[in-house]
Amino acid sequence: MYNGNENAHTANNLIIGSHVSMSGKEMMLSSVREALSYGANTFMIYTGAPQNTRRKPVDELCIEQAWRLMSLHHMEGFVVHAPYIINLANTINPRTRQLAVDFLAQELDRTQKMGSRLLILHPGAHVGAGEKAGIKSIIDGLNEVLSEPGDVCIALETMAGKGSEIGARFEQLAAIYDGVRYSQRLRVCFDTCHVHDAGYDIAQDPGSVLGQFDRLLGKDQIAVFHINDSKNERGSAKDRHADIGEGYLGFAPLYALVHDPDFCAIPKILETPWYPDPSNPSRTLPPYRREIAWLRTGDKPEREEIT
Ligand code: FE
Ligand code: FE
Ligand code: ZN
Repeated sequence: MYNGNENAHTANNLIIGSHVSMSGKEMMLSSVREALSYGANTFMIYTGAPQNTRRKPVDELCIEQAWRLMSLHHMEGFVVHAPYIINLANTINPRTRQLAVDFLAQELDRTQKMGSRLLILHPGAHVGAGEKAGIKSIIDGLNEVLSEPGDVCIALETMAGKGSEIGARFEQLAAIYDGVRYSQRLRVCFDTCHVHDAGYDIAQDPGSVLGQFDRLLGKDQIAVFHINDSKNERGSAKDRHADIGEGYLGFAPLYALVHDPDFCAIPKILETPWYPDPSNPSRTLPPYRREIAWLRTGDKPEREEIT
């Protein structure tokens, strides 16, 4: 880099945003407006409540208007997150699993129609049947949905390992890749809080963590990052996100990862918790506008200065 600062070139091209809601009459149009209000140039949405499967028909999502507003602001894309209730690893209850497969197929279709090419999925939880049975069930489910043609990729999220969650070890994600016939349509969503909670030292030793990831899956498989700090110590398997710089990872390692030249074309999505409004502590405010600014510039004020 001309000025010797290797971060300088990525600061402007950074693709960064947050989870935003999609609701009201304007649906996706309101999502784009919310993202713009944070100074974001990308965003992540759920197609409806993450805890249930009630969904509006796609023709009520204001997709065209949303894309018009996006192009006006040079936003090139966004990502979709599948709801948590999809559990492809559930071999205990066959009905739940079939619902998961069917709903995932619909989510792929919706994602495509909304104009995104990436659907983020929690691989699943084996709910007592064991890791091996869970992984096999995930593979079968993915083979089923991906046998239908389409351009949307499924990004398997790295998990914290809470309960019987699969995907806390990179080896488990690699095993899923190995079993899926259409693995060219698989990617990874790398969640910093989850990876830390799973035990990897992404804060102090990112080189070796990303090296392990590269050997098992290939760094080029990371299609999106979830940038979150963690409320718990490394290896806690808890999955509780903290605001950027307010947790066990800290600001500097998250800033460094966001500006890693290997990932400059990869979107970074914040899923940090809303914080209490200082003027009315019973309400909460989104942290995204300031966190996006801090992660762009590297200038995060000390805690006492933040209001
Ligand atoms: Fe997630
Ligand atoms: Fe996440
Ligand atoms: Zn999480």
